[in-house]
Amino acid sequence: MTSINKVGVIGAGQMGTGIAHVCALAGLDVVLNDVSEDRIKAGLATVNGNMARQVRRNRITEEQRQKALARIVPAKTFDGFGDCDLVIEAATEKEDVKRKIYVQLCPTLRPDAMIGSNTSSISITRLAAATDRPERFIGIHFMNPVPVMELVELIRGIATDDHTYEATKAFCQHLGKTVAVSEDFPAFIVNRVLMPMINEAIYTLYEGVGNVEAIDIAMRLGANHPMGPLQLADFIGLDTCLSVMQVLHEGLADSKYRPCPLLVKYVEAGWLGRKTQRGFYDYRGEKPVPTR
Ligand code: NAD
Repeated sequence: MTSINKVGVIGAGQMGTGIAHVCALAGLDVVLNDVSEDRIKAGLATVNGNMARQVRRNRITEEQRQKALARIVPAKTFDGFGDCDLVIEAATEKEDVKRKIYVQLCPTLRPDAMIGSNTSSISITRLAAATDRPERFIGIHFMNPVPVMELVELIRGIATDDHTYEATKAFCQHLGKTVAVSEDFPAFIVNRVLMPMINEAIYTLYEGVGNVEAIDIAMRLGANHPMGPLQLADFIGLDTCLSVMQVLHEGLADSKYRPCPLLVKYVEAGWLGRKTQRGFYDYRGEKPVPTR
């Protein structure tokens, strides 16, 4: 059982659409916000397409899809968030972006409403301090793609109260997810381990130890990873990968977390991976083609 019946989702990108998708399928009402109407529309189209795929694969029925889609309401402003029990912020991985959102969001919420951030790496305690309710603020870190991945990391900030922790844990379980609890340290558990591995794969490319294809085949067949690290980096988004490495580098002050200059270059070029059709692979043709 969950005491959370209505969820606000901020950011209709890869993660926000996935979160809206699983909430709506679990029978919760959802309001979905982004910076523009076009972005929200594109997000809703993604949810629609992903649910249609689930119907084709017999994971859900057409009736479930229709009902779930009807539960997601677009919201251009935070006005529609006034009766949300929980708001999950899944906006761009930049601290100033998230802080500005909380300043606008908090006055529109019920005093008892909880806020979760889907941040991959930023301190929950610090983000919570930008709100009027640090005790009702928590990290709810879904994995990508949300409808497929079973894990959610829950991260308590220094002030997060027991009620918020228990209520959000029950909410994650209601979505069919398994929770792993992480302390509030840079990048938490999954990305603390995963991102340095991806960054090292990019150094391996940068130093010419192997090309894109060789590195990905090596890790798929040699370490039994379902995806190569560069393929995975494209999937996550290279901007997100860079942000996480910067948070690790600054937060732990250890040179082993130095972001690879090649990763910086790809992000500066706007080659952010699948979401911009180009990263370590070029996705504009029928098959992904390595860019190095
Ligand atoms: P994305 O770039 O696909 O989507 C981010 C969305 O946020 C965009 O649609 C953007 O328009 C929107 N946005 C930016 N500023 C906003 C504002 N002021 N108000 C409303 N919306 C705003 O990024 P993503 O991959 O969905 O990542 C979102 C969050 O989830 C980040 O914090 C990221 O670290 C985290 N995350 C990402 C992954 C991943 O694999 N990509 C996994 C777990 C967590």
